[in-house]
Parts: sequence; C-alpha cells; structure tokens
Amino acid sequence: MSPPRVPRVVIVGCGFGGLAAVRALSKAAVEITLVDRTNHHLFQPLLYQVATAGLSAPAVSAPIRHTLRKEMKRGNLTILQAEVTGIDAPARHVTLDDGQALPFDHLIVAAGATHSYFGHDDWAVHAPGLKTLADAFNIRARVIGAFERAERCAEPAAREPWLTFVVIGAGPTGVEMAGTMSEIAQHTLAREFRRIDTRHTRVVLIEGSDRVLGGFVPSLSAKAQTQLRKLNVDVRVGCKVTGIDADGVTYESRSSPAPGAVEGSAAVQQHRLPSKTVIWAAGVAASPLGRALAASAGAALDRAGRVVVQPDLSLAGHPHVSVIGDLASAMSHPRGPGRGEPKPVPGVSPGAKQMGRAAARNVLARIQGRATEPFRYADYGNLATIGRKAAVVDLAVPVFGALRFSGFLAWLFWLFAHIYFLIGFRNRLYVLIDWAWAYWTYERHARVVAQPATAARGDRPAL
Ligand SMILES: Cc1cc2nc3c(=O)[nH]c(=O)nc-3n(C[C@H](O)[C@H](O)[C@H](O)COP(=O)(O)OP(=O)(O)OC[C@H]3O[C@@H](n4cnc5c(N)ncnc54)[C@H](O)[C@@H]3O)c2cc1C
Repeated sequence: MSPPRVPRVVIVGCGFGGLAAVRALSKAAVEITLVDRTNHHLFQPLLYQVATAGLSAPAVSAPIRHTLRKEMKRGNLTILQAEVTGIDAPARHVTLDDGQALPFDHLIVAAGATHSYFGHDDWAVHAPGLKTLADAFNIRARVIGAFERAERCAEPAAREPWLTFVVIGAGPTGVEMAGTMSEIAQHTLAREFRRIDTRHTRVVLIEGSDRVLGGFVPSLSAKAQTQLRKLNVDVRVGCKVTGIDADGVTYESRSSPAPGAVEGSAAVQQHRLPSKTVIWAAGVAASPLGRALAASAGAALDRAGRVVVQPDLSLAGHPHVSVIGDLASAMSHPRGPGRGEPKPVPGVSPGAKQMGRAAARNVLARIQGRATEPFRYADYGNLATIGRKAAVVDLAVPVFGALRFSGFLAWLFWLFAHIYFLIGFRNRLYVLIDWAWAYWTYERHARVVAQPATAARGDRPAL
C-alpha cells in the first residue's frame, strides 16, 4: 500500500500575509507551493522613501528565495515566480500566466490590493499610485525629472507647473509623500540649480474629507496638519478631485454657508491647479483575484472588491480556500477578555501577518480533523510620519488604554518600529545608516534615475 499523499497547500502572494502563512506552515507535514509574480518581498510601509529618493530598492525589499532560505532547507517548499490568472475553487486548482494548472488541497490567497481611481482609470497615466517598486521608480523619476524640466524653462511662468507637486489623498502615504517632497525642495536640492530656486516649489495635498489622517483621532490629525504647514505643504481638505490630465488637477470645494443660511446651501467652487507632477494616494481596490473567486466560488465582494470571509478566514461553502490580508474583508472580535462588537480588520501589515498565521493554523486544523478557530485581530495602534523629524503615534497599550503622542519623540518611535520590522538584518543596517546620514545632511542618496528625462512621462522633449 502506498503511503498517504502529503496535503498540498498553495499560497498566492508573498506579501506580509503570504510570508507569515508560509513560515507558520513550513514545519508541518504539508507540501507548500508559494506563487508570487515578483521575485521579492516588499516592505510597503517604507516604499515612499524609494519614491522620494531616500532609500534604494534593496533597503526595503528582499528576494523571496533569500527571505525564505531557512524554510527552503526543510524540503517541503517550492517557490514559483508566476502570475496567478485564475482560480477554480470547486476543481481545486489555480491557473498560472503560462496556462499551467496548479492543483491544491488547501489554498490561501494573499494577493493584496491595487489602486482605485473611483471609476476614472484614465487618471492613472497622469497620477501614478504607490504600491510596487515599479511605481516607486516611476514616481521618483517624475519628481526628480520635474526639477530638471523646470531648470530648462527659459520663462519663469513656464516653470510653475513643473514646480507644483500635487498629492491626492491625505492618508499616511499621502502625508508621508507630501512632507518628504517638500523637504527635498526646501533642503536637499536648494543649492543645486542655477535658474530655479527649488525653495519656491509648491507641494499641495488635497483631501476629500475634512481632515488629514482620517484613521487617527482628530487631535492627532490636527497636529499632523500643523506639522505639514510648518513644512510648507499647502493642505486643502474638503476638496473633491473631478479631473486629472497632463497639465494639472481640477477639483471642487464647498464654501461654508453664511450664518443663518438654509442647511445644504454651501456653494460649490471649481478650481484648477496647473501641475506636471500628480501623485495618487487616495483609493485602494482589492486584487482582481477577488473577482476570480466571486466567479468560481460565488464569493461575496465588498465595495472595494475585497472577498467577504467567514470568521475563520475561509470562503463560505469552500472551507479549503482562505483569503487573507488586504484582499480579505474580515470582521474580528477584539482580543483579550470580553468579546466586544466585531469590527472590520484594517488593511495594515499587522492585520495581514496575523491573518497569515491564523489561516495556516486553520489549514492544519482541517488536515488534522480539528475544529477551526475564528480570527481575532490584535490592534497595536497606528503610526504615521510627517517629514524627517515629526510623526503621530496612537498606540493601544494593554491595561493603560490609548497612548498618543506626536513630534520628535513620535518620529523616533516610528523610525525604530519600522527598522525593527524590516525584513533581514542587512536591510535594517542599510536603512539605519542611510537615515542617520540623511538626518544630518538632508542628502538623499537614491536620486540616480536610469531613464532619460522624457521617458518617465512618455512625453516628448520641449524643443
Ligand atoms: C505605500 C504604502 C504604505 C503603507 N504603509 C503602511 C504602514 O505604515 N503600516 C502598515 O501597517 N501598513 C501599511 N501599508 C499597508 C500594508 O503594506 C498592507 O496592509 C500589507 O502589505 C497587506 O499585505 P498582503 O499580504 O495582503 O498584501 P501585499 O503585501 O500587497 O502582498 C501581495 C503579494 O501578492 C503578489 N501578487 C498579487 N497579485 C498576484 C497574482 N495575481 N499572482 C501572483 N502574485 C500576486 C504581489 O506581488 C505581492 O507580493 C502600506 C501600504 C502601501 C501601499
């Protein structure tokens, strides 16, 4: 009699969720296949540093094969660099970009999210978002290239759109980008050009809601806004973007109604902001693999296209398929004593890592015929940095409750937290040295852009 076959677990995506799932399963008697379309694990929280020339790519990313070298030694892990183009949940296989079918007994889908332009996909070409290393290189080339183009303009008026940078969306990424771009203009490049004075650069941060960092408590949002203003960032809240093209952004704002005026009588004002460099940090949509699961397994999707999962992170009617991380729409009771009301699990890296470990435990429970456990998210709080020496920190401390602070101390906390969570010792050391240097000198080492000035935008040189 042949020995029983080892269960095959396929994991799609080696971001925070997929990596945690592989690590949690690697010691078990299962055959794991990890599929990612890139060859690297990316630490997205520091990606804005690559986009703003502060760090180079190897400081925030590491080859998957190197990251998982210890797990590879156990002999039950296969890593494939391929794009998953389809999932057939009932037939239990995923399809790869070359048409190959990869069978599984258990599937964990951790394919993350992408940008959403709220139905205006044509804006993407003018306002790139930040999600992958390729996005970061593209943004970096545009930002650095804009100063070069401004220097070429003979007429001061022609320089203005090149020296106006617009960031749309004031969540953590938008705030980080705007603050850092302003510092580049004010300090890093200040004495490097002849015709232009980069200190006259405008960085405009546009936000639809009434405050920056809407995920934080209002007092920290207010502190962040003050800090941004100190950095010369022009913050415009309550503004809805209605158009983006090669020459700028159109948006509308509502003026407050006059005292005693009828409710809802605020006037809508249209604005036009000429700019050659627009960054999109406003919308997130789940990976298209969510739609593949809806088609093959009847999975329900939420408004952002995320897959609605059961409390144990599996799909309703398909217990052998789990969805985790930014692709999952999961609810969780808080951890600790007392259950509290279930809340949506936020799209952050601790959420993805915790889901990866929980999904792996539940796969093993199913294999061993045990009951699965509901996922319980441990929320440790929120951090965001604003430029090189300010941040806001909102920590959930057991017993003490919320611990909130801002300013330089918050920035130090943010810095060490991010360095601690970076993948691999080499990266931590790199980043620490680069930041220490940049802190004292304002220099940004990763300013070398490979493509010629015209290539990043796909436009033609001005003759
Ligand atoms: C710019 C930025 C800044 C952020 N800052 C913070 C922060 O400060 N703190 C925080 O907690 N969170 C932050 N986040 C959010 C955090 O990075 C995500 O919540 C987290 O990465 C989600 O993990 P994941 O495993 O679900 O997806 P991801 O980490 O996005 O990984 C998805 C993986 O799947 C692969 N993939 C996708 N589609 C396919 C396919 N079809 N076939 C094969 N492979 C595929 C991708 O290549 C990728 O490796 C930030 C995100 C961004 C974009």
